[in-house]
Amino acid sequence: MFASSLERVRRRVQRLRYEQRCARQPNLLTRHPGTIVTTLYDVEGDWARPGMNRTEADTVARILEIEQRCSIRSTYNVVAGFAAWAPDVVEAIRGAGNEIASHSYDHSILTRLRRAEIAENVRKAKRAFARLGIDVAGHRSPQSAWDERVLDALVDEGYAWSAEDGAEPYPYRIRTGRKELWRFAVAIDDWAYEAERLTPAAMVERWQRTVRAARGRAKHVAIGFHAWVEAGRGRLAALEDFFHWLAAQKDVTVLPFGDVLERTAHPAASAMKAADG
Ligand SMILES: [Zn+2]
Repeated sequence: MFASSLERVRRRVQRLRYEQRCARQPNLLTRHPGTIVTTLYDVEGDWARPGMNRTEADTVARILEIEQRCSIRSTYNVVAGFAAWAPDVVEAIRGAGNEIASHSYDHSILTRLRRAEIAENVRKAKRAFARLGIDVAGHRSPQSAWDERVLDALVDEGYAWSAEDGAEPYPYRIRTGRKELWRFAVAIDDWAYEAERLTPAAMVERWQRTVRAARGRAKHVAIGFHAWVEAGRGRLAALEDFFHWLAAQKDVTVLPFGDVLERTAHPAASAMKAADG
C-alpha cells in the first residue's frame, strides 16, 4: 500500500517534469493543419492475462476489418512473446499498412526490474521482432511504468520513440544527443471499460471529448486500446462508431506514431516525399 502510493507520487513528479521539458522545446508540427490523432493498441494476449492469446488474435482480426472500413492506420504495440506465438497476426497487422512497435519482451513491469534486466528485456524484444523481419522503432511500457533507466535502455538499443501516458500537446525529444529518443504522450485509453464499467456509448463520448479538447490546444493526441478489452460485448461496434466519427472530422489526420515522427523529426524530407506523390 505504502509502496503503491509512493509509486503514484513518483509518477506524478515525473509527469510534471516531462511536461516542462516538452514546453521548453519547439512544437515542430505547427505547420501541420489541424490535429493529428494516433490510434494505438497494446497487444499482449497471455502475457497480460493467461489464456487470452486466442481472443487477442481473433479480436485483432476484427479490428483490422473495422480499420479498413474507416481507412484508419494505427500503431500496434505488441508483446514480443505474443508476436513469436502469432507471427501470422503480426503479418496481418503489418500487411494492412499499420506500424508494429514493442510492448516489451514479456509484459514485465519494467520499473520493478534491475537496470541490467531492463536492458535485456528491451534488447530481447528488438531481436525477437528482427527475427520476424521487423525493425521496431518504438516502445510502450507495460502499465506505462517507465523511468530514466528504461529511457537509457531504449536509447542504447536504438529505439527512436517511446509512447507513455501523459498530456504533452506535441511530440518532443525526451533524450537528446547522438542518439535521439522522441516521446509521444498517450492521452486516454479504453481502461475505463474495466475500471469504471463504462458503457460503450459513454466510452465513445469520452474518446470524442478527448479529440475535441485537443483541437486548437494540441497538435497531436494519442488514444490507446487493448484488443482483449475491446472484445467485450458491444465494444467493437462502439470502436467502429468512434472511428467513423474520427474519419469524418475534416481537421483531423489519423496517423501511426512512425508517420508522425517522420513529419516531426524530418519535416522537409516528408514534404518532399509528399510532393513526389
Ligand atoms: Zn500492456
